[in-house]
Amino acid sequence: MRPLKYIVSKNEMISPTVALLTLKPVSANARLRFAAGQYVSLGFVRNGRPTPMRCFSIVNSPGEKALQVAVRVRGDFTATAAEMAPGSPATVLGPFGEFVFNGSARQLVLIAGGIGVTPFISMIRHAAAIKWPGEIVLLYGNQNQADMPFANELDAWSRAGRVRVVYAISGGGKEPVPGRATVSGRISEQLLAPEVQANTVYYVCGPAGFMSSAMTQLRNLGVPNERVMSESFGQSKGGSGVQAAVYGLTAVMIMAGTGYFALKHFIESGSTVSPTPSAAEPLTPRGSTSNTPATTPYQAPQTSVS
Ligand SMILES: Cc1cc2nc3c(=O)[nH]c(=O)nc-3n(C[C@H](O)[C@H](O)[C@H](O)COP(=O)(O)OP(=O)(O)OC[C@H]3O[C@@H](n4cnc5c(N)ncnc54)[C@H](O)[C@@H]3O)c2cc1C
Repeated sequence: MRPLKYIVSKNEMISPTVALLTLKPVSANARLRFAAGQYVSLGFVRNGRPTPMRCFSIVNSPGEKALQVAVRVRGDFTATAAEMAPGSPATVLGPFGEFVFNGSARQLVLIAGGIGVTPFISMIRHAAAIKWPGEIVLLYGNQNQADMPFANELDAWSRAGRVRVVYAISGGGKEPVPGRATVSGRISEQLLAPEVQANTVYYVCGPAGFMSSAMTQLRNLGVPNERVMSESFGQSKGGSGVQAAVYGLTAVMIMAGTGYFALKHFIESGSTVSPTPSAAEPLTPRGSTSNTPATTPYQAPQTSVS
């Protein structure tokens, strides 16, 4: 797998802490083929030196040429990403992951913790693009109602009948927003119980602590493991092997004091992270052919983002 060269074409804050980056391939042949729900490893150039690479779920629908990621600013890397001006070069490695939209289910229940909503935005956009007839429910946990990335887009999908969204707000700012189904507190067994049905597939994504609590709740409600798919945004244990390996690679590069070209050579010489075999192959989402990546352009609903 070779790193692909991209250029930042747009970078905008879509919530107080989340930047949405749109990236375009430098070469037309460099287009990334991916399934809804997968992620890439992304790096930039800062002060003439390559940054480390970090994992980000792809937000847009397969079939689009541009690549979108949403980055919650929390440390050095994400602050750098949020500052990347249009025209900045980016390196993309991937796609990775088996946390992909499964069109064979009758109903999907998507359980997101904060920025863990990103792969679900891709899945919802893709389901709309291919006119998937199943039902999608999104339980979207956030600390603060004023900082919920994609809430306006989700409201639009909700009005269009594509998804039923329940917002669970654990912290401040609980004034009801007209048209939004909102509950106070975290995602709980009580909230999940009405969504437990046969033929439902559950997808859970978010930070490590959120993941373990949601997985326990599903288990307590009797949902069998084979109907639960999960993607942790945390590191190592329960997290992504790719992220861990990219961290390791980055550490080696920094210690060796090498620059961008050495990194490039290192990656191109095959010494880089090996994704799981299925992630490296041409992408066919599991379970069904009905969710083959769409080739028709996706038309997003009109949303205004605060
Ligand atoms: C599969 C996958 C998909 C992801 N998708 C997204 C996404 O769509 N949007 C998004 O905003 N984030 C996503 N993340 C998380 C993201 O990769 C990093 O957590 C984020 O880049 C850390 O930003 P930072 O600025 O703190 O990084 P840095 O400044 O590089 O890190 C600062 C410190 O935080 C620690 N750290 C970094 N990342 C993590 C982590 N994930 N868990 C625990 N500690 C960490 C580092 O060890 C370091 O000590 C994803 C992670 C994974 C594994």
